Amino acid sequence: MNEPFIETDTLIVGAGPIGLELAVVLKAMGVSYQHIDAGQVGQTISWYPKQVRFFSSPERIAIAGVPLGTSDQEKATREQYLAYLRGIVQQFELVVHTYERVIQVVKNDPGFAVHTRRGSEQRLYHAKHVVMAVGDLHHPQKLGIPGEDLSHVNHYFDEPHQYFGQQLLIVGGRNSAVETAIRCSRAGAHVTLSYRRSEFDDTSVKYWLLPEILSLIKSGQITYLPNTTPTRVCDTHVRLARTGADGQVIAASDPACGDPIDVPANFVLLMTGYRMDTSLLEDSGVELVGENQGPKLDTDTMMTNVPGLYVAGTAAAGTQKNFRLFIENCHQHVSKIVKSITGQRPPAGMVNDAATKYDLPES
Ligand SMILES: Cc1cc2nc3c(=O)[nH]c(=O)nc-3n(C[C@H](O)[C@H](O)[C@H](O)COP(=O)(O)OP(=O)(O)OC[C@H]3O[C@@H](n4cnc5c(N)ncnc54)[C@H](O)[C@@H]3O)c2cc1C
Repeated sequence: MNEPFIETDTLIVGAGPIGLELAVVLKAMGVSYQHIDAGQVGQTISWYPKQVRFFSSPERIAIAGVPLGTSDQEKATREQYLAYLRGIVQQFELVVHTYERVIQVVKNDPGFAVHTRRGSEQRLYHAKHVVMAVGDLHHPQKLGIPGEDLSHVNHYFDEPHQYFGQQLLIVGGRNSAVETAIRCSRAGAHVTLSYRRSEFDDTSVKYWLLPEILSLIKSGQITYLPNTTPTRVCDTHVRLARTGADGQVIAASDPACGDPIDVPANFVLLMTGYRMDTSLLEDSGVELVGENQGPKLDTDTMMTNVPGLYVAGTAAAGTQKNFRLFIENCHQHVSKIVKSITGQRPPAGMVNDAATKYDLPES
């Protein structure tokens, strides 16, 4: 007996801002679609630290032509943006199959067989087109050092209160490490910041945070250990090695190597970035290209080398070492995919795709 399946024109994988924007437009244009997310709507944003602010201004991350207002006219916080996304789902009466993971996409001419799992239940969809709006921040970039998996070590920062009065070592020197260091220091943690470079890169740190971190370091409220990197995490301390101008550990034979540094720490936050899980794309037959291992695609349509399979949002970039693809320059993926699928452009004003130029990392 054949397995029962759900038939649709387009299946969207991922209900982040770009997947949701696409859903609004397809619905408005009368295209039948199904929408699936492995977690909750806005799952990626839900694990941002509490109260963190976007660096993008509200009008750039607004979707589907719906204004994003903030009560203080500042940039939106995680909480405000999640409320906004929930509002989008409610306003447009979108149906998102949340907590359902797409586990396999099989080309099955003329379309695709898409296998999903929700708890112990498995489902099968048949779709003419599949759009992967799966994002690019799936797993932490691990350092691969002994002790990295100890219980007092974390790759995610949630909120500062738990570090009050604690010896906290933060590793990293980009935005998330700097912001975490400032917030935890202000919340009474004894913060040491280890960064493998000598100075912060002002293109990788929110412009309003840079003077703050420099001031906290200068006043001694944060201990800064530039040109260092952890080599081992122990229960009571972290061992750091010295790094050179290239950020790499200096060889023991080099006189500049010096002695290792032991920093007391009862909590460790490794803010060393995130990487994309490309396995679903690869298993679907999508070629990965370039340094970022992003999907091979036609940038006019966002279709990959697999006919009928598209990529939207930051997933188009692969693992970004230097961030160039954000929500604000992904809106146009929606217009391009809609045009490719329906032959028409989205209704006027529904996609904010004129604001920023298309800037896909080179592959
Ligand atoms: C602290 C922090 C601050 C940031 N600030 C900004 C900012 O100011 N501006 C900006 O543009 N970006 C910012 N980003 C990056 C931002 O999160 C992304 O740009 C944005 O979420 C990308 O949207 P997206 O729709 O492409 O993908 P995502 O929001 O990542 O959505 C992808 C969705 O796909 C789902 N998914 C993945 N795999 C599957 C699967 N197999 N089956 C079903 N569902 C799946 C996920 O659950 C997720 O909900 C920030 C990131 C962090 C961590």
